[in-house]
Amino acid sequence: TIGMLAIDSKGNISGACSTSGLAFKMRGRVGDSPIIGAGLFVDNEVGAATATGVGEEVIRVAGSALIVELMRQGYPPKAACKEVVERIIKKRKDAVKDSQVGFLAINKKGEYGAYAIQNDFTFAVSTSRKQDILVTATSYY
Ligand code: ASP
Repeated sequence: TIGMLAIDSKGNISGACSTSGLAFKMRGRVGDSPIIGAGLFVDNEVGAATATGVGEEVIRVAGSALIVELMRQGYPPKAACKEVVERIIKKRKDAVKDSQVGFLAINKKGEYGAYAIQNDFTFAVSTSRKQDILVTATSYY
């Protein structure tokens, strides 16, 4: 999955994600990326989140929508991502211990953060002179 979140100089937030799906997936499988609230969620009043990794785990907790709701309650982006990752680990410990699920989030103030089960998760940030911010995360699945 490639997940991208952006905030422009006027504070408008947008997001997109694209996936090839999991390797060797079942025919007809729908991952989290095309499901709004799972692989991606954007609320222009609050912020946005996107996910990479094992889509089934993300769908089970409505991961991206949950992160946005936590940010609405005041969680900073990284803390919101961490809360959801920890919820997945708590519910699905044995199933996810060797898997990756990662989230990336941005809020209305332009603060961003990410958190994942496996700590080899990285993301990129680019800014412009117009104060637009774009954050991008990719995982290899
Ligand atoms: N989230 C994707 C899926 O489950 C996999 C990926 O991160 O590429 O379809």
